[in-house]
Amino acid sequence: MNTTSGRRTLTPQRKIPAMCQHSSPCPTADSADREAAQLVAHHPEQGWSLLCNGVLLFEDTGELLPDGQIIAPHRPLGIEHVMTAA
Ligand SMILES: [Zn+2]
Repeated sequence: MNTTSGRRTLTPQRKIPAMCQHSSPCPTADSADREAAQLVAHHPEQGWSLLCNGVLLFEDTGELLPDGQIIAPHRPLGIEHVMTAA
């Protein structure tokens, strides 16, 4: 058998570089729990935060995923209901 030629090198399946160095790994960006990732950058003056998994989290709870997917704000700010008294 001739195995010296004709052996195709498969394209290496690159994994996403493990940027997370937290002792308990942060949820991935495609996880439903993605917001639980650690903050790596916080810019309240600009209204966004960067999570360890690459998710941009905006102050209105909208999100921009690393793959460009946009998550609409999903938590009502509830400004009109803040004054509700028991
Ligand atoms: Zn992390």
